[in-house]
Amino acid sequence: ARRTVAFIGLGHMGGPMAANLAGAGHRVRGHDLVPEALAAAARAGVEPAGSAAGAVADADTVITMLPAGRHVLDLYDTLLPAARPGTLFVDCSTIDVADARTAHERAVAAGMRALDAPVSGGVVGAEAGTLTFMAGGGEAEFAGAGPLLDVMGGKAVHCGGPGAGQAAKICNNMILGVSMIAVSEAFVLGERLGLSHQALFDVASTASGQCWALSVNCPVPGPVPTSPANRDYRPGFAAALMAKDLGLAANAVKAGGVQAELGLRAAELYAEYAERVGAAEDFSGIVRTIREQGGE
Ligand code: NAD
Repeated sequence: ARRTVAFIGLGHMGGPMAANLAGAGHRVRGHDLVPEALAAAARAGVEPAGSAAGAVADADTVITMLPAGRHVLDLYDTLLPAARPGTLFVDCSTIDVADARTAHERAVAAGMRALDAPVSGGVVGAEAGTLTFMAGGGEAEFAGAGPLLDVMGGKAVHCGGPGAGQAAKICNNMILGVSMIAVSEAFVLGERLGLSHQALFDVASTASGQCWALSVNCPVPGPVPTSPANRDYRPGFAAALMAKDLGLAANAVKAGGVQAELGLRAAELYAEYAERVGAAEDFSGIVRTIREQGGE
């Protein structure tokens, strides 16, 4: 059935996601603070709304795709009183688990329904409609968002109650961030020991060192021709976003009193790397920092 969707935040991810919903025949009313983002969405069939509150007035579903938790919570203060009771609020931004739970509470207190549904797959996945959604909230809310998630993505996993989608996202990216550093350190050690990249790859990719960071996104050029290392570390997955996600993981680690030395250290290393050299590079470029900082 045709839905009326308010889509707030039409940036790198939100723009193409909103365009895909409009392309699938849904009525999409969009808003963004940046006029160019709004104009680009309008060219893709999204109805531009002059204000965020105006966009949600007659929507059955409100989707937000914003930079951080404070943007989501600030905007919810404006959107919740403007929406019809029972409207489904789906936040697809990557934000703190604690902020996501606060957003759920505020939405429910205002008579709305809520789902956190962060994504992986990047701008390429947003454009192609092949994102993976990780959702947190009730069964009915997940089912209600389903037809829209199916348009924007290829897979949606219901991870549990409020905040569970954000939790899954940061736990997954903590594995990824740590494993990329482990693979990078091993390649640099191998270099010092006179081992070729190909030899290490041939062994580790079929042995117990196998992981996505090695066998798909290999941080050195050569063994996996499609990995960002072969195009001077053009992303891929930008180091700035890895630093952001590991910062959210670090917040949750500290708040939960969890022992996660490698996750916390990885958050520091990506933050330094993104700030010094590689914010826009693929995160696998951290191998160069590891190599350079080791000295001769
Ligand atoms: P972006 O900065 O390109 O887009 C965010 C948009 O929100 C901007 O256009 C901004 O103007 C708009 N905005 C901010 N405050 C607003 C407000 N009050 N009202 C209306 N619009 C407002 O960021 P992005 O790359 O699209 O990422 C969005 C979210 O998705 C982030 O949380 C990010 O961590 C997550 N994410 C991004 C990627 C990626 O590859 N870019 C991948 C997975 C997840």
